[in-house]
Amino acid sequence: MRVFLDLDGVVVDFVQGLIDWFNLDFKHEDCQNYEDIYKFYPGTKADLWESLPDRFWAELNFTKEANEILTFLEPLKPCILTSPVWTGAGGKQQWIRKNLPNYFDEKRYLIGPAKDYAAHKGSLLIDDAEEMIEKFQNAEGYTILVPRPWNYLRGKDVLTHIKNSLFTILLYHQNDLQSEYILKKVVTPTWHSGVGRTFEWVKV
Ligand SMILES: [Mg+2]
Repeated sequence: MRVFLDLDGVVVDFVQGLIDWFNLDFKHEDCQNYEDIYKFYPGTKADLWESLPDRFWAELNFTKEANEILTFLEPLKPCILTSPVWTGAGGKQQWIRKNLPNYFDEKRYLIGPAKDYAAHKGSLLIDDAEEMIEKFQNAEGYTILVPRPWNYLRGKDVLTHIKNSLFTILLYHQNDLQSEYILKKVVTPTWHSGVGRTFEWVKV
């Protein structure tokens, strides 16, 4: 199985980075669509993207869920798949080198806009962009959309959604994906709510 993991909006807090860089009068949770950003930026789309130096991309922060996402997915050895917007491919590479040294050293990253060209039956893309998810699916890849204010899963818990989706995909499509792992649901009694649900990786 080849798992591809998006950066911006999944692992990297790109929207907050833009808001801070341009000092936009705009809140992260009000971004219902990536296009919303342009309404708060005084110049053109081209001005916005062209003005961002590599340093912008290289210094973005992690999202608050990034650590948990990366830790949970590690047994699957994902490959970072990130699309540069007009410019910034070098800055993204610097970001990966600094913040995800194991991905960098093991050469587990791809930087390019044609994410759907990586799609095939044995692949899974984890991404926050509905458009990207649709293209990847149309090219026979499996997908998990990460809930964010700018997609239709807004409001859902990010980790719960990723884990539940992965559980279901591996349960029904393990043959296509040829995964070495499946997820097992573990139900444990807890003092507050009766039962707790966690997931465990099981090697097959
Ligand atoms: Mg993204």
